Amino acid sequence: MGCEQVLILGVRVDAVTAAEALDIIEQIVREGRPRQVVTVNPEFVMAAQTNEAFRRVLNAATLALPDGIGLVWAARILGQRLPERVAGSDIVPRIAERAAGRGWRLFFLGAAPGVAERAAMRLAAQYPGLTVAGTYAGSPAAAEEDEIVARVRAARPDILFVAYGAPAQDLWIARNLERLGVPLCMGVGGTFDFIAGVTRRAPPWVQRLGLEWLHRLIHQPWRWRRQLALVKFVGLVLRERLTKDQMCAILTFRNSYFQKRDRGDNG
Ligand code: UDP
Repeated sequence: MGCEQVLILGVRVDAVTAAEALDIIEQIVREGRPRQVVTVNPEFVMAAQTNEAFRRVLNAATLALPDGIGLVWAARILGQRLPERVAGSDIVPRIAERAAGRGWRLFFLGAAPGVAERAAMRLAAQYPGLTVAGTYAGSPAAAEEDEIVARVRAARPDILFVAYGAPAQDLWIARNLERLGVPLCMGVGGTFDFIAGVTRRAPPWVQRLGLEWLHRLIHQPWRWRRQLALVKFVGLVLRERLTKDQMCAILTFRNSYFQKRDRGDNG
């Protein structure tokens, strides 16, 4: 969509602010062709190191949002730049706000039974005029795929949010994108849980400090295994950075060697 991109451990992320992301989303909905939006965080990047299909889906998405302060940090370490974190959980309510103004129809798929519905109701109460085309818990299981696709198609949404967690949600969208025929499909992880009040997000000051991951670890300690990926992510980014530095050192040494040799003062 013509914005700058950064590459973090083989995964492409778009260097957009939340405001720019919203404008791109508006453009996608207006164009009306099926497009996929992904919300990349360090866990995604780590999963993509071993899950080739997931990496391909992330890199083929029309818009890849930098969801995770770890990505902003990693980009800086690797000499690239991401203007800010654009979290899926922050952008979904803003999309709902814009949808209410533009008349876009939203479909909420995934999460535990009743949660998608509650999240949709809360957003509709917050943004009067919002059209909820449908809500359904469903499941990413292959046996349910045809029935769910038919259900979404029948509701004719402009935007489909899918909350099955990564990578299931993003692979599900990629597999079904064309036959769904929905202009914009986006994997949103635990966003419905946050909006419905099932799980609580970190307070804004914790988010500002870039410590939302720590808050999640304290409140959902069963995530520790998943969050090990964050430690590995930091290790890989630092290793890539080190390799770059070493390359620079070797090139500097080589250049100075040839300069000296040309001047005839070697040995
Ligand atoms: N989920 C689901 N079906 C599944 C697995 C997960 O609906 O088979 C939902 C789960 O209820 C939750 C969301 O997917 O609402 C994933 O949330 P999680 O917090 O794991 O995602 P993250 O935000 O970490 O990507």
